[in-house]
Amino acid sequence: MTAIQGDIQPIRLKPSVQQALGKHLLSCYPHEACGVLLGAAAAGGMLIDTYVPISNVAPDPLHAFVPQPREWIKALYNVPSPIGLFHSHPHSPPLPSAADLSGLTALGTEFQIYVIGSPGQGDNNVPNFGGYYIDRQFDINGRSSPRLIQAPIYALLK
Ligand SMILES: [Zn+2]
Repeated sequence: MTAIQGDIQPIRLKPSVQQALGKHLLSCYPHEACGVLLGAAAAGGMLIDTYVPISNVAPDPLHAFVPQPREWIKALYNVPSPIGLFHSHPHSPPLPSAADLSGLTALGTEFQIYVIGSPGQGDNNVPNFGGYYIDRQFDINGRSSPRLIQAPIYALLK
């Protein structure tokens, strides 16, 4: 399912996925957390039903994420294969950074969804999530220049 301008399908998280994402990002704090999302396009928008956390082996895990290669490869061979990438911004809102955008070219086309999580502010400790579709335009040389299109993201009610 692709996001068409003006008609962007929501990204929906199963409650267990929302909890797993929140738990992982808080347990990794102040480091960035990362992992992959499994799910499928469904009536009413993309439905994410599984989260697979991956260790972050970035040299500077406070400000970057690099999925642990062995865990990453294992996750890619998961059946069904992952459709989304998750990482956290422990110190900033869940908006894509310049590094996030340049990292999109390294992702296979099976990745359609990009989710960023941030810890809640103040007394409210509920994490915030930013959800995006990865939109790939191919130029005449067949090179893709992926960009992110923001989508509504919310957890399903139990
Ligand atoms: Zn980021």
